[in-house]
Amino acid sequence: MSYFFKCFQISCQGASCITTFADFLCSKIAPALRHVIYEKTALDIARDVKEKIPDFRGNRSTLEYYMLKYLAEEEKFEHFKHYLNAPGDFLNNYIKTKVETYCLDKNKRLEMFLRDSLSHYSENIQSAVIASTTVVKDRKDRKDKISLWLDEFCRALGDVLSLPRSDLKGIEHQEITDIEFLNNAMTETLSPIIDDLRKDFEEARMSSFKRQPHTIVAEQFAGCQEQCPFCEAVCTNTMPNHDGDHRVVFHRPQVLRGYRWHKTDNLVIDICSSNVPSGCLFRIGEDTWIPYKKYRDAGPPYSTWSILPDPSMQAYWKWFVSSFRTQLEQCYNGKFHGRGEIPASWKRVTKQNALTELEKC
Ligand SMILES: [Zn+2]
Ligand SMILES: [Zn+2]
Repeated sequence: MSYFFKCFQISCQGASCITTFADFLCSKIAPALRHVIYEKTALDIARDVKEKIPDFRGNRSTLEYYMLKYLAEEEKFEHFKHYLNAPGDFLNNYIKTKVETYCLDKNKRLEMFLRDSLSHYSENIQSAVIASTTVVKDRKDRKDKISLWLDEFCRALGDVLSLPRSDLKGIEHQEITDIEFLNNAMTETLSPIIDDLRKDFEEARMSSFKRQPHTIVAEQFAGCQEQCPFCEAVCTNTMPNHDGDHRVVFHRPQVLRGYRWHKTDNLVIDICSSNVPSGCLFRIGEDTWIPYKKYRDAGPPYSTWSILPDPSMQAYWKWFVSSFRTQLEQCYNGKFHGRGEIPASWKRVTKQNALTELEKC
């Protein structure tokens, strides 16, 4: 930087002085402008997808419905496993893919958003140049016109760009008197910078963002990440670190977590909320058995969950278990027989029944 100042001071005379001043100032503006454009664009995209993509229009339960619908349409066991084993990771990936497709498909929305932000900010900068010139040009009483011009300029852009006035101390004592000429020099110097950015945006990728739009969207759907200690369904509370117990509206058949009845190969098709009023026991650690009726006695995480007796199971999981029985048996080294016999009524649930029921919830 000091090298630049030296050159600047040596070469500074008359008209070339103004051009060099404008070059220096614009070299400070360019990176700040680029940064702020990406920041604004990330927020603009996050806002836009919340309006335009139905999956993101509601709360997390709405998103959950769309994810389950997607999984049912794909019908790939591996995808279900990802969803069941790493729900947070699956959710982030799902959002990321949706947002990226929206931005990068044939409509080239990413480039369009970046160009809109660029126009917005380049107008702000142009207005700041004009406003500073207007304030300073008639101040015949002031000798330090450049310093005054920079004060005005930085103030006008204060809410827009990060352009600290203190970074410009080295150029504030220049003897520039022709403020109108400075005005034009700034416009001329800014123009290629804006053109370059516009060209860059044709090649922009999602990785060009420091904070990516999908991350902003995902944060809005974060909610509580706790999972039921039995079936691992994710708590439906929309607040992370919320007060009170964790809970879910519907628990899932415990086979989704690979449960088998003790000392058998029978997979557990029951749900936590129907086990809670039963006489069944569950094991913690090596050999400690706790009655489901007193599940809270098992301590955390069990004691932090409210699981009320409720036999209702979503048709979706009945459909899933019946449709993927072979894969589940292989995956969890058990069988759907004995206490794990799949009821005939489950086998009659179609994918469409399952999705129609989900949509109503
Ligand atoms: Zn559960
Ligand atoms: Zn919770």
